[in-house]
Amino acid sequence: MRYLTQNNLPRNPTRAVRIGSITIGGGRPIAVQSMCATKTTNAEATVAQVNRLAEAGAAVVRIAVDTRRDAEALAEVRDRTEANLAVDLQENYSLAAEVAPWVDKIRYNPGHLFHHQRERPWQEKVRFIADVAAAHDCAVRVGVNCGSVDPAKREKYDRRDSIRPMLDSALEHCELLDRLGFTRYCVSLKDSDPQTVIKINRLFAAERPDVPLHLGVTEAGMPPEGIVKTRLALEPLIRQGIGDTIRVSLTVPNSRKHEEIEAGRQILDDIAAGKFLDDEPQRPKGLNIISCPSCSRVENEAFVELAEQVREATRYAAELPITIAVMGCRVNGPGETDHADLGLWCGSSYVNLKRRGTVLGAFSYEEIIPRLKAELDKMV
Ligand code: SF4
Repeated sequence: MRYLTQNNLPRNPTRAVRIGSITIGGGRPIAVQSMCATKTTNAEATVAQVNRLAEAGAAVVRIAVDTRRDAEALAEVRDRTEANLAVDLQENYSLAAEVAPWVDKIRYNPGHLFHHQRERPWQEKVRFIADVAAAHDCAVRVGVNCGSVDPAKREKYDRRDSIRPMLDSALEHCELLDRLGFTRYCVSLKDSDPQTVIKINRLFAAERPDVPLHLGVTEAGMPPEGIVKTRLALEPLIRQGIGDTIRVSLTVPNSRKHEEIEAGRQILDDIAAGKFLDDEPQRPKGLNIISCPSCSRVENEAFVELAEQVREATRYAAELPITIAVMGCRVNGPGETDHADLGLWCGSSYVNLKRRGTVLGAFSYEEIIPRLKAELDKMV
């Protein structure tokens, strides 16, 4: 199995963080990782996807856990694979204790620590996660995401400032983890705009050059556009020595999930060989479709097909500076579509539609494309 790629790239002097059988940071080669999009409770399908990703070269495979049933299924997955596993705690931080015995890394999102046990200070929740991780030999990722930033940080800064709230949140969590004596962590700062990803990771690396960074563009969308967006963000960062592990998030069916690893490896190989797309990306000038890579929360697998239909149906508006967001679930969909001109998020039998922050209603999978086009026509 090939876990790691090119080792002749410049690297920042980050500290080494072990995740199961691999180590990121400390001058190690950049690791490529991915995430399962199967239902976690379907252990059979999840094991198959984990192993397929590992065969493609995934150094770490992430699995989302929302419920106790997911946590139980994870024990079975652990039994049936040797891949390094990371768990995504989503909103339910307290499940950390149940899943930690079965994984090598725990990812928590600072913006999601407010959904359960609101009266408990977030600092205590982080302490709990750090204690659990230390007790079970797990690393931690502080995963900050543009669609779910800590509300207190959002309020502190201008609404148009997408960078400072995320950066502040990440730095605050690093300080707390350091104070707690837990240093086996890395950080990610993801946005759907490549330019923002570059800026924010540069700022973070300047303040905390010791902390390993997990790089990626969130909701990059379908290939090939999603790969191009990720490449545009990662090239300048990696050439500068920033980044210890990467993920290329792509909206693809489960049978093609391993393409995320292939794309990540190709990006690193090309950078090492001196092949670049651009020095610095510009904001997308024409129609920009962002869509999530899906995960165990997707309620209807027609989501991927819907994203493809949206791309086809809106080609006539390719030159317009409009952003359309297509998200796979009702949990993160509303927040992740906030900044789009037109936003869709999927339920089991209907799709919600939003136009610049105003919810227009829920439509069946058959109705949604004509309705989307009608809204787009008004903008044209
Ligand atoms: S939007 Fe929902 S389905 Fe898509 S990756 Fe995020 S949590 Fe998963």
